[in-house]
Amino acid sequence: LFARPWVFLKGCVRVSDLPADNIVEVAFAGRSNVGKSSLINALVGQRALARTSNTPGRTQELNLFAPEQGGIRIVDMPGYGFAKAPKPAVEKWNKLIHQFLRGRPNLRRVYVLIDGRHGPKANDATVMNELDKAAVSYQVVLTKMDKLPEKGTEAVLDATRKFIAKRPAAHPEIIATSSEKGAGVDMLRAEIAKFLEG
Ligand code: GDP
Repeated sequence: LFARPWVFLKGCVRVSDLPADNIVEVAFAGRSNVGKSSLINALVGQRALARTSNTPGRTQELNLFAPEQGGIRIVDMPGYGFAKAPKPAVEKWNKLIHQFLRGRPNLRRVYVLIDGRHGPKANDATVMNELDKAAVSYQVVLTKMDKLPEKGTEAVLDATRKFIAKRPAAHPEIIATSSEKGAGVDMLRAEIAKFLEG
């Protein structure tokens, strides 16, 4: 669905660093260590595109990726919810995310990643509040599902559905994934491909 290779475009520490908004974008958000880099790499089929195992809470950048031939961009949002993150870093994160979500007309969807072992947390609700207020479409993606026993899968899907049902707007169905085993990756890829242009 996506033409390779994908390339790293740019890291943006402020919204004024962002490239022109003439190409559709989808973004990935999630708590630090949720498996965001691994999922982006699995999606595009390139192991080292997004850097995994970056120090949690350190990278306060919007990292942009695109297929070399264009058509779409992926925005890797900085991870949140890192317990030891200093307050100024958290405030900087909030500001960057707030401005990004409010001022990006080409942003078609945000995939909110949630660790399948932990389910949705308060931080995830905070991000969803921002998304709802900014009227940005989002979809929940559960990660690391290979770490769950089969029974756990239904339980976390159920808990996540209930969590989402409390949101003010309707949202697309939750996608359960494993970057390790590849589960759900095709489905997510197909979702994103709907936004491809050209
Ligand atoms: P990020 O901080 O959200 O970008 O998370 P990473 O992609 O760097 O992943 C954090 C940790 O979780 C790493 O040790 C990964 O190997 C591990 N991980 C990520 N995705 C999966 C998965 O689908 N299954 C399993 N078992 N581990 C994963």
